[in-house]
Amino acid sequence: MGDRQNRADVILIGAGIMSATLGTMLKELAPDLDIIVLERRSQPGEESSNEWNNAGTGHASLCELNYTTEKADGSIDISKAVKVNEEFQLSRQFWSYLVRRGLIRDPQKFIMPVPHMSFVQGERDVAFLKKRFEAMSANPLFEGMEFSDAPDKLAEWIPLMMENRTLDRPIAATRIESGTDVNFGALTRMLFAHLKNSGAQMLYHRHVQDMQRTTDGKWELKVRNVESGAVERYSAPFVFIGAGGGSLHLLQKSGIAEGRGIGGFPVSGLFMVCRDPEMAKRHYAKVYGKAAIGAPPMSVPHLDTRFIDGKPSLLFGPFAGFTPKFLKFGSNLDLLKSVKPHNLVTMIAAGVKNMSLTTYLIKQLMLTKEQRVEELRQFVPHARSEDWDLIVAGQRVQIIKDTETGGRGTLQFGTEVISAADGSVAALLGASPGASTAVAIMLEVIKRCFPEQLKAWREKIGEMVPSWGIKLSENPDLVRELHEETAKTLGLDRSAHPARQYASTATS
Ligand SMILES: Cc1cc2nc3c(=O)[nH]c(=O)nc-3n(C[C@H](O)[C@H](O)[C@H](O)COP(=O)(O)OP(=O)(O)OC[C@H]3O[C@@H](n4cnc5c(N)ncnc54)[C@H](O)[C@@H]3O)c2cc1C
Repeated sequence: MGDRQNRADVILIGAGIMSATLGTMLKELAPDLDIIVLERRSQPGEESSNEWNNAGTGHASLCELNYTTEKADGSIDISKAVKVNEEFQLSRQFWSYLVRRGLIRDPQKFIMPVPHMSFVQGERDVAFLKKRFEAMSANPLFEGMEFSDAPDKLAEWIPLMMENRTLDRPIAATRIESGTDVNFGALTRMLFAHLKNSGAQMLYHRHVQDMQRTTDGKWELKVRNVESGAVERYSAPFVFIGAGGGSLHLLQKSGIAEGRGIGGFPVSGLFMVCRDPEMAKRHYAKVYGKAAIGAPPMSVPHLDTRFIDGKPSLLFGPFAGFTPKFLKFGSNLDLLKSVKPHNLVTMIAAGVKNMSLTTYLIKQLMLTKEQRVEELRQFVPHARSEDWDLIVAGQRVQIIKDTETGGRGTLQFGTEVISAADGSVAALLGASPGASTAVAIMLEVIKRCFPEQLKAWREKIGEMVPSWGIKLSENPDLVRELHEETAKTLGLDRSAHPARQYASTATS
């Protein structure tokens, strides 16, 4: 490859949903930008963004109980739920913009309407859910949420979960029709296909090994071509490290001060999947329960309708686990290699503090299939082991850092953009709420790394994501208007949707 082609305005490391989103936005804002994408695998969306490596929940706080907390006075704090929902609205708006402009087609290949539900058992949790429902349904973002503790109603909503259920304690659920199942793998592939058509260079089998600043302030990347074994060099004034679990290593290689003292803790995941179309027809919802005591928030159990390649299936999990790899296709040395003199004390503190979590993860890892099916029976009382297969999901690398509130070695469960003060490089760490909020996260990257262009780009950003910078929860009319418009463009109107057949079977 000639030297000229190895230079670009922007280099995106990793071909997951985050780089796909950032690249697509930048191309809309500045069509002349030269973009190179470097990906170690043979195609986009092979790690966490792959459809079988995540749960495909369009996280909009419509069902995730861990996004709300009960305060000391008994009231419910919904601020995180509001924030996540507002961020998801930006994703919906951006996807709608792309569909409207014909830049991506067939939204049904990546987004389907699936009601979102929260499900609890026992008096205390039922009382919590009721209070939570009252707090949330008063907010325009959660309009249409319903609550029921009546077994007949629940049997209508979730027949598969109510069949053969012993009703020896109170149960309740909330339900909202406007939830979604998102195939982030398909979306990632669509966005990269569009980027390639727009002139971006998509280079696969390229493993970025190192990055250094050159005297002219640019970044030079040392890249191994994993097919030929050759070492190649690429340079650009701006680099986005969207390498998922691989981002921490590259951030450390960059040597920027903002990356010091940060560590990573890998959590693996397993799902159980049922591909029997008849079973899938009897459950049409994403039903989130409560995490077991001592379990990390990302292991909240849920039973989901998934639509992948037009076929419905059921997914249950995730079961957390531990491997030292930072990527599904990573190395057993990943964790060890991430320990540096500058994060050693933080990592040791995190290790001591999180002994119980490590024990929990190891116990989870050792569960037999029958024990996992037993957990599934909390959701599907008559589940049979032979109907369900185990699949390995993606790796999540949780951020470890020292914080004012948590002290040394605090484990973080969110995502965080780490960028250099001069905006020449940004990395995304962490995995939750993840892909659903990719647009909000990448807008943050743009804000930090392209401050000089932002003024000129504001109008276009407003066209792509009309509610950026607006508190939607305080603008009920705008919520309704944007919701209706995006539902129409993305084909989420359930009355005319192919998914409707599942709805009618499940509730008949
Ligand atoms: C079990 C599980 C369930 C989840 N469920 C949901 C959900 O329901 N909803 C939701 O919104 N989010 C969910 N997430 C989170 C979501 O999957 C991630 O936030 C999102 O996919 C991350 O995208 P990414 O582009 O940052 O990383 P990835 O998709 O992992 O992409 C990173 C890419 O970088 C490449 N790469 C790595 N290192 C290098 C290198 N050195 N050189 C070149 N290339 C490199 C990798 O091969 C990969 O292709 C879940 C995650 C997991 C693991």
